[in-house]
Amino acid sequence: MAAAAVDALFFVFFSIVGSPFQLGLNAISIACYGLTLWLLKRRQNRLAIALIWTEVLTHAAIGTLLTGWDSGYTYYLLMFVPTIIISSPRRTAYWMLASLWSFYLALFLVMQHVQPLQPIGHRALFLLQAFNVTILFAMVSYFVFMYQRLAARSDQKLKLLATTDPLTGLFNRRTALETAIREAALFERGRRNLSYILTDIDHFKAINDIHGHQAGDAVLVAVSEALRSVTRVQDVLARWGGEEFLFVLPDTPRAGAAELAERIRDVVAGLGPVAGVCRITLTCGISGQRKGESCDAAIARADQALYEGKRTGRDRLVLENDEDAAPAIMQPQTSAPNALS
Ligand code: GH3
Ligand code: MG
Ligand code: MG
Repeated sequence: MAAAAVDALFFVFFSIVGSPFQLGLNAISIACYGLTLWLLKRRQNRLAIALIWTEVLTHAAIGTLLTGWDSGYTYYLLMFVPTIIISSPRRTAYWMLASLWSFYLALFLVMQHVQPLQPIGHRALFLLQAFNVTILFAMVSYFVFMYQRLAARSDQKLKLLATTDPLTGLFNRRTALETAIREAALFERGRRNLSYILTDIDHFKAINDIHGHQAGDAVLVAVSEALRSVTRVQDVLARWGGEEFLFVLPDTPRAGAAELAERIRDVVAGLGPVAGVCRITLTCGISGQRKGESCDAAIARADQALYEGKRTGRDRLVLENDEDAAPAIMQPQTSAPNALS
């Protein structure tokens, strides 16, 4: 469209300058772009691109032969440099660039020995070159901005893929660990509290076995949504493993983490039937970061507490106790068995 508009402006220009041959040439160019649009609409992309190439190369060559090198028609050839590099495989790009460069130099060489066939006045030549160079600036800028936008978008996409779990949309294990390392460093430098909740869906293997893997996936998604709904902005919730989730809770004492874990268990217990699974329960292990230890050590204690919860019957939360003391096990308020129907 833009190229057709440029040719339409040329058309007006050569009507004023009074150059009938160039006028005809621009009429053909406009027709070419019309045909290109038509081809693109019919998804004949290769043919459309070939037509654009032919039009630009021919127009640049004929325009230069008629009005001289100073007309600036050859600037349009430079337009192809970024487009070739961006859109072609490297090997193809090399030979296309080499061919374009040869064509450009050949034209330059010819114009050293040939006088313009239809010279135009000084002022008209100046206007023509100023116009052509302006269009080149505008088009190159447009292409680079467009490419920059595309690159930023794909960068964002890659970042999302690298930091999240595709099934649940939660952060992945790596992101959770990076957050925990950062928060543990802040804790070491004086932050008051940092707690962890490691939670695991009970009898998840049986859910898969009885209801199928897809139902298992649906349960994972529903549980993730429920967990997300109780998470504060400063908390990081991640899918830690298959059916295991980790909360990193900055500025939260263990008692606060225990309250949150109760809420988590409540909200998951309150889920309606998910893909035929009527009751979903969680076991939670809770730990607090201690001075001088790594976040791995603190998470490992949450894991031990979780294991303790599994060992003592599931559907409960276990708070790691102070050093050397036994973990505090909090029994579930509801004593209903884990029904997998
Ligand atoms: P426990 O109550 O002790 O936690 O027992 P469990 O059955 O929940 O735990 P177990 O570790 O025995 O089984 C976990 C299962 O989770 C095994 C694995 O096939 C399944 N799993 C892991 N990732 C996925 C997933 O992305 N989708 C589904 N559907 N299943 C998964
Ligand atoms: Mg489990
Ligand atoms: Mg597990």
